Amino acid sequence: MKIDYHALGLKVGLECHQQLATRGKLFCNCKPHLFKGEPEIIFLRRLRPTQSELGQVDPAAFFEFQKGMKILYEADAETSCLVEMDEEPPHDLNREALDVSLTIALMMNAKPVDEIYVMRKIVIDGSNTTGFQRTCVVAVDGSINVDGKNVPIQHICLEEDAARKMGEEGFLIRYRIDRLGIPLVEITTGPVMNTPEEAERVALAIGKILRSTRRVKRGIGTIRQDLNISIRDGALVEIKGVQELELISKVVEYEVQRQLSLLKIRDELRQRDLREDELKERFVDVTSVFRETQCQILQRAISQGKIILAVKLPKIAGLLAFELTPGLRFGGELADRARFWGRVGGILHTDELKSYGVSDKEISELRRSAGAGEEDAVVIVADKIENASDALKAVVERVREAINGVPEETRAANPDGTTRYMRPRPGAARMYPETDVPPIKITGEHLERLRAQLPEPPGDKIKRLMSSYGLNEKLARQLLDMEYDNLFEVAVKETNVTPTVVAATLTETFKALKREGVKIENLTEEQIVEIFKIVGLEKTSKESIPEIVRWLTKHEGSNPMEAIKELGLTMLSEEELKSLIEEYLDKNKDLIAEKKLGALGGLIGIIMKDLRGKAKPELVNKILREKLAERLSG
Ligand SMILES: [Zn+2]
Repeated sequence: MKIDYHALGLKVGLECHQQLATRGKLFCNCKPHLFKGEPEIIFLRRLRPTQSELGQVDPAAFFEFQKGMKILYEADAETSCLVEMDEEPPHDLNREALDVSLTIALMMNAKPVDEIYVMRKIVIDGSNTTGFQRTCVVAVDGSINVDGKNVPIQHICLEEDAARKMGEEGFLIRYRIDRLGIPLVEITTGPVMNTPEEAERVALAIGKILRSTRRVKRGIGTIRQDLNISIRDGALVEIKGVQELELISKVVEYEVQRQLSLLKIRDELRQRDLREDELKERFVDVTSVFRETQCQILQRAISQGKIILAVKLPKIAGLLAFELTPGLRFGGELADRARFWGRVGGILHTDELKSYGVSDKEISELRRSAGAGEEDAVVIVADKIENASDALKAVVERVREAINGVPEETRAANPDGTTRYMRPRPGAARMYPETDVPPIKITGEHLERLRAQLPEPPGDKIKRLMSSYGLNEKLARQLLDMEYDNLFEVAVKETNVTPTVVAATLTETFKALKREGVKIENLTEEQIVEIFKIVGLEKTSKESIPEIVRWLTKHEGSNPMEAIKELGLTMLSEEELKSLIEEYLDKNKDLIAEKKLGALGGLIGIIMKDLRGKAKPELVNKILREKLAERLSG
């Protein structure tokens, strides 16, 4: 199905969060890394927002607070100190992180603020031990050009990353505070993208600018995108936590599809003349209907002492099974809400009960108990009474919203590009000044110093690599993507190897090696340049580079000369080569007698296979031709 996104009035805005590769955290000197293995320190806290904060928090967080959630924090001594544990005030703002964020701001033509004020943004889901996130605006009102279009950059903020959630059991949530305090730069664009592809292109362009500073972290989890997506008749939906830039267009496509499907449901409900006042929070205990049931889910619930609560959804029959996006039915949206607000495992409804092993007799008994006719649906939940009624309230509320179309909400991205309900959209976050961190003035001199050493913009660099070194665009782009562009220039300058060979080695060859599991990241830049040097000096051939690399990554602290000696990849001298080739010709007398000059191709194949890395193919070819001609004429 071809969708005309412009006609739908699609608008997408991006909020990109990128971890910075600084030496310390934003407000202390702890290592900004994640630890593996068992925590050394564990402490428990309760969510305890103060009265004044409660007025500002989003309803979902307040709900969790009310339910008495407890938080277990895990830490180790290298990645956290008393600052992350909220036992000690924050230290001064990390200047290195500030400089990186200002550099990014200048590259995006944004206007740095005169003075940096650290603010507190209320967060009470437990992901910050303090109950707030520290953030500061670094610059505003920038813009970047993406394929000829001006994309406004509304603001660039520097903030601390939150603790990472490790799990949730009942009313206990586990977080690791190693990630808490890692500097993040947040870049917010205007909502000016009008197609899924455009949103992805802009995200990729922002990613390239960030990486060109070489001061940002790489790898999964180090860059996270939030998307604001709306279509004209739909609603603004915020999708959080897209980790792969290549997933963005898919997330946008699915969200548009979801909103269009919800609009179809709205139209159908209007057709069926469903009114809000027909939706009643009238819940019926139907446990007795399922006493003898063959449905295993319900059997188990009843044996655990849970009750089964039902609600009638008038005029909804058939719609709960309607597929909104691949794998997400309208019933699934209801289930998401039930899980969130009622902490239940899920819901069952009359559109699907039969496939769960519920008998026709039980279904008609259920309908009768809930007062539902054929045109109505019945939703059931099995849990404790409080949870079950919270869940069904949320279900009824979700159907009420469906009458009006698409609800505004915050959703979380799944790894396949689909999304799930996360929470209602919070109101604008209220900020309070962080009095423990003094403001920092940004002087013109400071900015000039940063401006003088701005990284070359990615687009300019690609053009320069192509024109100065004769690379094709693909190689130039790959060098930048893999962050080998600087190393490439050093290697070309210091060695005799042609630029194309250096570029192809750093990109194609290294990628192939990575795929086979070779740890390229263990090589130092010096080692890589040294490899090109000995190839340039013809101490070995370029064909032996993969073997040298494999060997070096397994022998820490060794150098490429040692590698070629150990591996026997030293180039043969011309004299050595000549006598070796004589030997091959002696061994293959019969072949030569039979095929004359036609034996050349076969012989080259045999010799190069034996001498791979020890001789240049051109030289072998030349000597072989000469010697063969000599023999045939003599
Ligand atoms: Zn610390």
